[in-house]
Amino acid sequence: MSEQEVDLFVIGAGSGGVRAARVSAQFGAKVAIAEEFRIGGTCVIRGCVPKKLLVYASAYGSGFREAQGYGWSAENISFDWNALIAAKDVEIDRLSGIYRRNLGNAGVAAFEERAELIGDGKVKLVKSGQVFAAKKILIATGGTPRRIGFPGEELSISSNEVFHLETLPKKILIAGGGYIACEFASIFAGLGVETSLVYRRDTVLRGFDDDLRTHIHNELIAHGVRVITHASIKEIAKQDAKKGGGLLVQLDNGQPMVVDQVMMAVGRVAATAGLGLDVAGVKADRSGAIQVDEFGQTNVPGVFAIGDVTDRINLTPVAIREGAAFADSEFGDRRHSFDHKDVASAVFTQPPAGSVGLSEADARAEYGEIDIYKDAFRPMRHTLSGIEERYLMKLVVRASDQVVVGVHLVSDAAPEIIQVAAVAVKAGLTKAQWDETCAVHPTAAEELVLMRQKFQPPVLEDGEAL
Ligand code: NDP
Repeated sequence: MSEQEVDLFVIGAGSGGVRAARVSAQFGAKVAIAEEFRIGGTCVIRGCVPKKLLVYASAYGSGFREAQGYGWSAENISFDWNALIAAKDVEIDRLSGIYRRNLGNAGVAAFEERAELIGDGKVKLVKSGQVFAAKKILIATGGTPRRIGFPGEELSISSNEVFHLETLPKKILIAGGGYIACEFASIFAGLGVETSLVYRRDTVLRGFDDDLRTHIHNELIAHGVRVITHASIKEIAKQDAKKGGGLLVQLDNGQPMVVDQVMMAVGRVAATAGLGLDVAGVKADRSGAIQVDEFGQTNVPGVFAIGDVTDRINLTPVAIREGAAFADSEFGDRRHSFDHKDVASAVFTQPPAGSVGLSEADARAEYGEIDIYKDAFRPMRHTLSGIEERYLMKLVVRASDQVVVGVHLVSDAAPEIIQVAAVAVKAGLTKAQWDETCAVHPTAAEELVLMRQKFQPPVLEDGEAL
């Protein structure tokens, strides 16, 4: 089979790869893209988008209970998992179709099969055997769930399978304490599943601000999640049907548990296995993440990588911006790279969290003296709902110039608020400028422009701060 020549071959049609391919084609490049699973990638097919739909679904459970405090009554409420999954699948098919059409409209040739590097600037499609000689290759294969390797791990599911469970489990155990573990613990608890979460340290969401972590940890528990800390799964085995069936899980703290499903959410690793990095001479770290400079350039001229496969900030909008910057730089008229500073993110728990900039601990380590403004309170929404849910608003301010360097929120609208707060943090606004901004009343977010008292840590009798 003869080789086809292209200006750019993109491996992986997720958010980053599709953006890079489309923008490059719009600059006049001849572009091909390959995807081994489904066009749209993790975010659209089995990540952010379907997850958010499940988050919406899970919030109705407590929503019906809250509504009673506002005078509503609703009887015979029921939930149908299969109806939700079917509706979700229709929406995901629609979005995947839009991604495919957009590639076609931009003139990108899309191949729905696995591609591998074969060296010398060439890529081979594994099923059809077609070979492409590409002036540039962009690897945007994303990540894949981490496997740990304990006995019976194959009986567990990951975030890949969770969107296609045939039945809603009655009892689930989720392993991990990051984004996915916390979000799915909230989803399942909200859908009425008896949910446990097992995490190897003491407080979930390591890497986030400590107040935010503690707040979310406590809210998970308040929303019915049984959080087991300082423990990991040692073994999973099928339990005899005579004993009731299910999965028998042994934790390394000696505690046995019986559940219907175990979901592993212990991080993701770069999807580079078998990709031919060694053949092409592309350097990766021990976990398989491709090493790149700020422009996505690998150690091999003409080979680039963006998104989760580079394991920098593993978020969809970051991959999209990296993809756009690559296209502008390599095929457009503007060489630039994406600035990874002050990228906001949200954790879609109940209530959700939003965060941008430095945590209190990181700001202290970087700048020494900092001022903290924070408030944890029961929002107006829950005065009548009867729900004991609390919100958190926290500003981290660099003492030397009063610039707000971190914002950390927990509230029903935290993911929406943090998007706008990120503009202010990115712009380097000072606490005084936040304070000059008039409040929007009555909202929870108004607290962000109303906090005037610096937080003073409680002081022991001998004068030492706690
Ligand atoms: P995270 O990196 O967020 O969390 C991984 C969790 O697994 C941590 O709690 C970690 O513990 C734990 N862990 C890692 N290795 C082991 C092990 N060997 N045994 C037990 N526990 C282990 O990964 P996720 O899988 O939750 O999510 C992957 C990425 O996807 C995120 O980093 C995020 O970038 C992205 N994402 C973003 C979302 C959003 O924006 N809302 C939603 C979902 C995912 P420890 O803390 O001790 O390291």
